[in-house]
Amino acid sequence: MFFLSESTIQRPGPDCVLNCPVCNGLDVTAFTFDLVTQTKAYFVVKMMKTTVTHVVCTACHTNFFARGPAARLADLTPDELAAVLRPPTTFIQKSLAVLALLVAIFPIVCLVMAVIAWVSNRKTRNWPGMVSKIALAISLLVSVILGIAALIEKR
Ligand SMILES: [Zn+2]
Repeated sequence: MFFLSESTIQRPGPDCVLNCPVCNGLDVTAFTFDLVTQTKAYFVVKMMKTTVTHVVCTACHTNFFARGPAARLADLTPDELAAVLRPPTTFIQKSLAVLALLVAIFPIVCLVMAVIAWVSNRKTRNWPGMVSKIALAISLLVSVILGIAALIEKR
């Protein structure tokens, strides 16, 4: 069986000076760190490495995401730093993600059901064929919308 494990290390970055877009503080100190997640197979074979850089405003404690690595951010001016920051996810975005997750359970089941229904009704020319085509179209649409929503949330 294929076995994957994941380990995350926090690599501290330099302290930066930031014009914070959240608390509007000018020349506030911000500390930075990289979160490096290494996925390994069987604990030894290195598979995938993802790095997420965080910038934390010391005035308002907002945790921003930034294009890393953190070491590169020290060279930026306070304004340049503010420009590369991505705001933290809001409560609404998180709620939407949870909601999408809750609903996602059903579309997948519904998609499987729709495919089964469509395959079994594919050759029929009467109403079940039409209904299963509509069901398939609806569940595909729902899955695509959720896929796009998931992508937007990830950005
Ligand atoms: Zn701030």
